[in-house]
Amino acid sequence: MIVVSEPLLNGRELDYVREAVETGWISSEGRFIAEFERRWAEYCGAAHGVAMSSGTAALQLAMRALDLEPGSEVILPSCTIISCAVAIIEAGCVPVLVDSDPESWCLDPDQVAAKITPRTRAIMPVHLFGHPCDMTPLWELAERHGLHIVEDAAEAHGAEYRGRRCGGLGTLGCFSFYANKIVTTGEGGMVVTNDPALADRLRSLRNLCFRRDRRFLHSELGTNARLTNLQAAIGLAQVERIGDHIARKRHIAAQYGARLAGLPLALPVERPWARSVYWMYGIVLDDAVPFDAAECALRLRALGVDSRPFFLGMHEQPALLERGLFRGERYPVAERLARRALYLPSGLTLSDTDLELAADAVREVLA
Ligand SMILES: *Cc1c(COP(=O)(O)O)cnc(C)c1O
Repeated sequence: MIVVSEPLLNGRELDYVREAVETGWISSEGRFIAEFERRWAEYCGAAHGVAMSSGTAALQLAMRALDLEPGSEVILPSCTIISCAVAIIEAGCVPVLVDSDPESWCLDPDQVAAKITPRTRAIMPVHLFGHPCDMTPLWELAERHGLHIVEDAAEAHGAEYRGRRCGGLGTLGCFSFYANKIVTTGEGGMVVTNDPALADRLRSLRNLCFRRDRRFLHSELGTNARLTNLQAAIGLAQVERIGDHIARKRHIAAQYGARLAGLPLALPVERPWARSVYWMYGIVLDDAVPFDAAECALRLRALGVDSRPFFLGMHEQPALLERGLFRGERYPVAERLARRALYLPSGLTLSDTDLELAADAVREVLA
């Protein structure tokens, strides 16, 4: 089976992990954490980085750090991971959905403008599949209405919007370092920001809000979302290699693009203002294809090629509908992507031979 993704750990990961083990710094203190935070923030063009135990934790604490009044509305795309909605709801806010652009799969800025109310306080753009969202209209809306921008850049390490890296484009930028991400620590995440007060608050929330003046006195409830020095050791080695990782992703995308041309599929786009990192190579079946993405995945699997579906939209999630959210709302692009789209093997370890086999399998399935 040609797998969808495997991590590539061919840099100094083992050297750094060995150092962490040999020095005994395996918990959430140690040189790799500070170094990883500093390097990653700098790479993103942000002043501060606060490492977290996961991308979900990064989103959760980013939302909490903003201290928005209960009932504040936060606009996000329906087509995203549940982590975004969880983070908004747990911060006492209300998620407000918009649909996606049918080509870039990122949130549609015109629809964001239409959803702004007097209660809107933030926008959460998700740079899906490595392609940046169109930020200029979001910046204009944020400026005009006094909104925060909380980026979910979990799939967009190193992606650029008009020459600036994702994660450094708003108030707070959230990353995941899960094993299938472009930079991985196994499990892990980070929030980057230029605001020193927010960085402080994130550090406090990450570590149970221990008070500085008296350790076991708490004026607020935080959580344990600390990354370990062991994980940061891997992360630092990964950051050192990110240029190669992105080059590999772009190579994979170019190869698939050439090999899948002419099939009844929509392939990923790259806007003139974007530099995509093609986190995973997604394809969308044309309406003329007489089966859906789930059936396509089964047929590919029979040919030895694994794949994954796109997200199921937030407005189709029973756990959210049960809370009285999104009743009767429709987002046709998100609905279509959930049913007609899937992503192909695109991991950093994918060989050119396996890529060719995978592309041939798609060809055969769609023949
Ligand atoms: C992976 C991912 C996350 C969540 O990250 P975890 O580290 O798995 O918690 C959040 N948002 C998006 C868009 C993701 O792809």
